[in-house]
Amino acid sequence: MAVAYIGKVIKINPIKGADRIESLEVVCGKGGKWRGIAGKGLRQVDDLVEVYLQDAILPKEDRFLFMEKHKYIVKMQKFKGVPSECLIMPTDPKLTEQPSHSSASGHVGQPIPNIEKYEKPIPANLAGEVLGQFPTHLVPKTDEPNFQTVPEMVEALKGKQCYVTVKCDGSSATFYKHEGHFGVCSRNLELKDTENNTLWELVRKYDICAHLSEDFAIQVECIGEGIQSNPMGIKGHDIRIFNIYDIKTRRYLGYKRMMVLAKMLQIPTVPYICEFEFGDPSDEDLRKLAVGNYDNGKPREGIVIRPMEEMVVNGERLSFKVINLLCRDID
Ligand code: AMP
Ligand code: MN
Repeated sequence: MAVAYIGKVIKINPIKGADRIESLEVVCGKGGKWRGIAGKGLRQVDDLVEVYLQDAILPKEDRFLFMEKHKYIVKMQKFKGVPSECLIMPTDPKLTEQPSHSSASGHVGQPIPNIEKYEKPIPANLAGEVLGQFPTHLVPKTDEPNFQTVPEMVEALKGKQCYVTVKCDGSSATFYKHEGHFGVCSRNLELKDTENNTLWELVRKYDICAHLSEDFAIQVECIGEGIQSNPMGIKGHDIRIFNIYDIKTRRYLGYKRMMVLAKMLQIPTVPYICEFEFGDPSDEDLRKLAVGNYDNGKPREGIVIRPMEEMVVNGERLSFKVINLLCRDID
């Protein structure tokens, strides 16, 4: 999934109490629909623009100098209570001067080349020594798309029973057993059992190696001190299960089976928020659902929504995140 696209302005909304900026709605074809802030009067409906999504690493060009203080990384936030989910820039003529199939809007949805996605660094205590690459031939890496980039999933969920969990802000880990081998992986690598490696310590705490069945993988968020900013305020380190994967059938377990297995393993799962029949929510409804706090009262990073029974859409497992924009309200 790209993190930068050519988009088109579809709506312009004023922001109460702001004289110099306004809120733009842009569409980026397959890249989704987003809202962002721009200087007042600079853009018009139907203008082509460059849209940089969450975690896009901006090129160190003069036109992005104002993002230097943010280390050139795009973050979602609210601005005077209005979502700023992307950075919107005038198009660089280089990207749109080539004739496209139809009109200028034929460029909409075209990914902007060479824009990398920022990945949060893995803290040293979770990194440890590398045994090898993440075994993607056995288990998919952890990832959750933003709801705006997967409208087909939002559509497919309509009328289905879904459940919502709290997005825990940490670093993911995968534990698996295959052909008698027990593996421990951080986001992209499999790790050796070395002293002081937090993931291996947690394996021992919960005795995961002994309890996990052959050809199953569990995927957890590792949270606690020194991991991101530990917004959940966890003492020491802990894990919360969000996926259990059956390696043989190449499928994730549905919610009920996942909960039963997690209970048997005696490992906590990500906090459950609610369950309901997914109707026809607007983007704003979903954003509102994402607003809330962790148990310690700090704003949560967001939520993850999934069907109770696993579903696959266009070859991808149906599951998406909604970021809590109030998490970073920069009024
Ligand atoms: P991001 O951290 O923005 O890349 O979002 C995706 C990641 O959130 C997943 O890969 C998991 O590591 C993590 N995560 C935290 N809480 C949950 C949850 N409740 N459900 C699914 N993934 C979660
Ligand atoms: Mn994360």
